[in-house]
Amino acid sequence: MRHIAVIGSGPAGYYTAEACQKQFHDTARIDMIDRMPVPFGLIRTGVAPDHQSIKAVSRRYEQVALSDNVRFVGNVTVGADVSIAELSELYDAIVLATGAPTDRPLGIPGDDLPGVMGSAAFVGWYNGHPDFARLDPPLGSGGFAVIGNGNVALDIARILAKTPAEFEGSDIVGHALDALSAAPTRYITIVGRRGPHQIGMTPKELGELGHLERARPVVDPADLPPEEADATLDPGQRKSVSLLRGFAALSGNGADKPVTVTFDFFAKPVAVEGDGKVERLIVERTRLDENGGATGTGETYAIPCGMVVAAIGYKTTPIAGVPFDEKAGRFANDEGRIAPGLYAVGWARRGPTGTIGTNRPDGFMIAEKIAADQPEPGEKQGRPGLDALLESRGVEAVTFHDWQKIDSAEIARARAGAPREKFVAVSDMLDARG
Ligand code: NAP
Repeated sequence: MRHIAVIGSGPAGYYTAEACQKQFHDTARIDMIDRMPVPFGLIRTGVAPDHQSIKAVSRRYEQVALSDNVRFVGNVTVGADVSIAELSELYDAIVLATGAPTDRPLGIPGDDLPGVMGSAAFVGWYNGHPDFARLDPPLGSGGFAVIGNGNVALDIARILAKTPAEFEGSDIVGHALDALSAAPTRYITIVGRRGPHQIGMTPKELGELGHLERARPVVDPADLPPEEADATLDPGQRKSVSLLRGFAALSGNGADKPVTVTFDFFAKPVAVEGDGKVERLIVERTRLDENGGATGTGETYAIPCGMVVAAIGYKTTPIAGVPFDEKAGRFANDEGRIAPGLYAVGWARRGPTGTIGTNRPDGFMIAEKIAADQPEPGEKQGRPGLDALLESRGVEAVTFHDWQKIDSAEIARARAGAPREKFVAVSDMLDARG
């Protein structure tokens, strides 16, 4: 029997488990180890709560999880409860599918003021991640600056802009819905250091901004390149830019909507200022240089706001004993290979880019590499060895059947119209197993 440990039960982890199932059939046992007592990683706590159709992919992962050769082992932290060296003694292959859950630092003066946070923290707060449930973001000033021109910045701006009624059918957690509903939100500014042609926003997500109940997108037509220049873009990007052109053409239309979501392009954050809390973001005007980078012009201006969210990308969290590429913010690897028997997949391999589906081919690539590197299974212990080790340390592992009980309890406590009300404390998750 071949024993494989997949660390992390988000999209990359599940696609790897599925790929290993297909590659090795009944000759492999796969343990999917997660530090949370609940599975699905980014699907549960990263994907926006009002994007339920994307979250539905977890039902497909359940089919993998409920097969005999794949096992979920939750509430176990690799690097703390069990080391990589210990797992190497027990498993023929270890695949790190731990994603990129840590915010990249903004690195400007004032970024330590209360009210400055990264997108992992803010998204984790409204999505019920236990690490961020107590964030208590200052929503009371009415003004927000969201830094970054990717889909995460869009998600955050949309969540800030929506009315309570627009969250119907979402799984936003109660503490976030209550706080957002009570907030006097008026001005949301999406700050991009480069221009409309350089955005990382995809058309479907961008289009949603044009259909909000109380909010309207604002784009300065002067920021848009001449329309002929769009011909050089790939079709998806061209569609996104034409949506921005549509927003720019709105000018005063929709002025009855009280909330604005303004795109400030060519604006590089240089400082956060305020008296003991965020009061304004200072940005420097930029222009594109010959390499497509943002060059400061020396001209600065202030964006008044009471909260700054930096949606500028993520880093993988290092694990003791695993080589790490600090600059790239992910495990040092060669096409997924880290060391003999040790692999990385998904965002932990390639950095935080791509959609959920991008992780599927990644998983299949790793399964093929494992098969090529180790044509025959070894003599390792796998599951029984891990169980004995965890028991000797008093670590209480959670199974997929435990998750099904937690799942049922979350569904049972959902408010009307919502698919679930998530538990946001690990202890409540463990209690919900009955
Ligand atoms: P992203 O698309 O890489 O966007 C990061 C943004 O941050 C870029 O606009 C970047 O600008 C900017 N940035 C980086 N460092 C900065 C700095 N120091 N100051 C100012 N701006 C800075 O990343 P993301 O939005 O975090 O998304 C991660 C991945 O998840 C993406 O592939 C995204 O499409 C995907 N995602 C998909 C969905 C969906 O499909 N619904 C939802 C959320 C996320 P430059 O371009 O100038 O570097």
